Amino acid sequence: MKLVRDNIKKLQEYKPNEDTCKIKLDANEGRNFLFKSIKEDGIKFPEGFDINVYPDNDAALLRDEIGKYINVDPKNIVAGNGSSELIELIMKTYIDEGDSIVSFVPTFSMYMIFSQIYSANFIGVESNEDFSVDMDKLIQKVDEINPKVIFLCNPNNPTGHLVKKDKIKKLLDNIDCILVVDEAYIEFAEGSMVDEILNYENLIVLRTLSKALGLAGIRLGYMVTNEDIIRTINKVKSPYNLNSISQYIGINALKNKDRIAEYVKDVKIEREFLYNSLTQLSFQVYEPNGNFIFFKSDIKDLDAKLEEKGILIRAFSDRLNNFYRVTVGEGWQNKEFIKSLKEILKDENS
Ligand SMILES: *Cc1c(COP(=O)(O)O)cnc(C)c1O
Repeated sequence: MKLVRDNIKKLQEYKPNEDTCKIKLDANEGRNFLFKSIKEDGIKFPEGFDINVYPDNDAALLRDEIGKYINVDPKNIVAGNGSSELIELIMKTYIDEGDSIVSFVPTFSMYMIFSQIYSANFIGVESNEDFSVDMDKLIQKVDEINPKVIFLCNPNNPTGHLVKKDKIKKLLDNIDCILVVDEAYIEFAEGSMVDEILNYENLIVLRTLSKALGLAGIRLGYMVTNEDIIRTINKVKSPYNLNSISQYIGINALKNKDRIAEYVKDVKIEREFLYNSLTQLSFQVYEPNGNFIFFKSDIKDLDAKLEEKGILIRAFSDRLNNFYRVTVGEGWQNKEFIKSLKEILKDENS
């Protein structure tokens, strides 16, 4: 232990919930629709596909398909081992010890965890009471502390809050540091910044195949930005960061643009069902913009009570004590979740 860097000693390990449950609505994973159809069609690896050799370091074919999927030139894309690798790559590239990183809070915990690993000073700008955000407050903080990087998770995990494009542009017009817009859930909302990357020298957009494409298991994410940043990032990226099999499945998955759009439409319908049901049950529910719903409940240990009924949702602590995040699941799962909530409410009131 004495050889370990001080800030790593203080670090808590990121421990995902390993409980197995009948209905898993705790991690915002998409449904298994693409890989299921890829399997049904039969995965045949093409001529010349071998895994005794290293994978394509540039993931060229994968970047071509990503380019077609989001309508961006592949030269403006870097593919990563999940967007988590790309978040870390940004830290490795821009952060010296003691540099500041700013984000609205609450938000995705990995920004803070990586900040700690890279000895940066993470500064959270509190969001409003209703979890909307005050862009002027962020701009003022940036003026004050001169950070290297700002992370904006949009729509935000876990609150679901969506920042409109004009506000993000206003932020960009007022800062000199790097702005990372993490669009892990943007397929379920509107207002992607990917078509703005050439208009700014400091804008990086992160996307992932883990949510709207239902492929969290193959760890594929990508960065969209200008070529100058791409060149710098590529100097830092580990060689062969993406294994060939993930690249190959990603290529095949991204060709199904229509199916992805259909799936997203379906999630939005189910999301509305959940939103309305939770509202009717008098929970405080926040407007959802991702594939999950953020809500408040004063029922003590609601997550444990649901787990007893075979349903896993995400609970939070500190400022977010009594707040929960539930992933929009399949129709039957959402119905089961609402049914269980009604049973719990009945028990509470009896
Ligand atoms: C799920 C999620 C990601 C995706 O991470 P991967 O490493 O691509 O699986 C990124 N950012 C946020 C905010 C997320 O919620």
